[in-house]
Amino acid sequence: MYDLIIIGSGPAGLSAAVYGKRAGFDVLALEKNPMSGGQVLNTYEVDNYLGLPGINGFDMGMKFHEHANDMGVIFENTEVTQITDAGKYKIVTVLDGSEEKTYETKALILATGASHAALQVPGEDKLRGRGVSYCATCDGAFFREGTVAVVGGGDVAVEDAIFLARFCKKVYLIHRRDSLRAAKSLQDKLFSCENIEVVWDSVVEEICGQDQVEGIRIKHLKETQKTTLQAAQRQTAELLAADGVFIAVGLYPNTEIFREVVSCDEKGYVIAGEECETNVPGIYVAGDARTKKVRQIVTAVADGANAVASAEKYINSLP
Ligand code: NAP
Repeated sequence: MYDLIIIGSGPAGLSAAVYGKRAGFDVLALEKNPMSGGQVLNTYEVDNYLGLPGINGFDMGMKFHEHANDMGVIFENTEVTQITDAGKYKIVTVLDGSEEKTYETKALILATGASHAALQVPGEDKLRGRGVSYCATCDGAFFREGTVAVVGGGDVAVEDAIFLARFCKKVYLIHRRDSLRAAKSLQDKLFSCENIEVVWDSVVEEICGQDQVEGIRIKHLKETQKTTLQAAQRQTAELLAADGVFIAVGLYPNTEIFREVVSCDEKGYVIAGEECETNVPGIYVAGDARTKKVRQIVTAVADGANAVASAEKYINSLP
């Protein structure tokens, strides 16, 4: 019986692991991927984490892992298939090869984060991995000197466009509105890149290509003065030639396996306030999987601490 099991090893899970060890608990961290860090690993440069301006996301993930590991957290690389609330303790079922095995714990922290959403247009599934990507830092190098399109207007899309502009000949940022959601500092960087062209008020209708992406068909929702796409390429039912398409249209929470145990909102985020308490005593949620306004590394790290504070109170109250 563990004191605390944490599912997920992104910033929220690793922060919870460190705080859990500081509270004197036996802590088991279950990670699905062979490397800790979560989404951070795929970020080229993190510019807004206090004290570490410009740190590479991979290095940051490694530092977070090292910190938790040095504190004596036990890590296991496995996929969780089920959680069960057995009252005074919780059961976590994981895959052990092709077999299932279970762990018991007094308290459980869900820190499984969120994954990239799909655009859900024709051609996307067929050309996934053949020019369609959801991770610019993972796949960007395949498009050196090429032309790529990034879809979205949030922090991820803008970060991806800036990253790709370092080595691609041309980067189109396709956004469905006439203003970006991304942080102002990122927008300033974006607008200073000469090889990035923002295609405003436009949506992707299809990703085209036989075996590889050859282009995207985009539809302009309205013609605004801001639409800067070069006239030569602006035809009706426009086909924009591109070697790759990076989709960055938001996230969906990795909470499918928890939804019958804890209450979630209509998008699947686990419902909890700043104290990270779900509706089930002894089960807490930290990071991007929680209902919250600001999904940042720093808020995920803060959740890890808050979730452990709540779990500690709960564990100490157990008879
Ligand atoms: P996001 O902030 O939710 O932005 C998603 C973008 O995709 C929005 O611009 C949205 O358009 C657009 N979009 C959504 N569905 C679409 C569709 N079907 N077709 C076309 N466009 C669509 O998501 P994100 O950029 O992935 O970021 C996720 C979270 O992580 C955010 O909270 C973000 O702040 C955080 N984050 C932070 C950092 C950092 O601080 N360094 C880095 C990365 C991510 P609308 O604007 O019209 O809604």
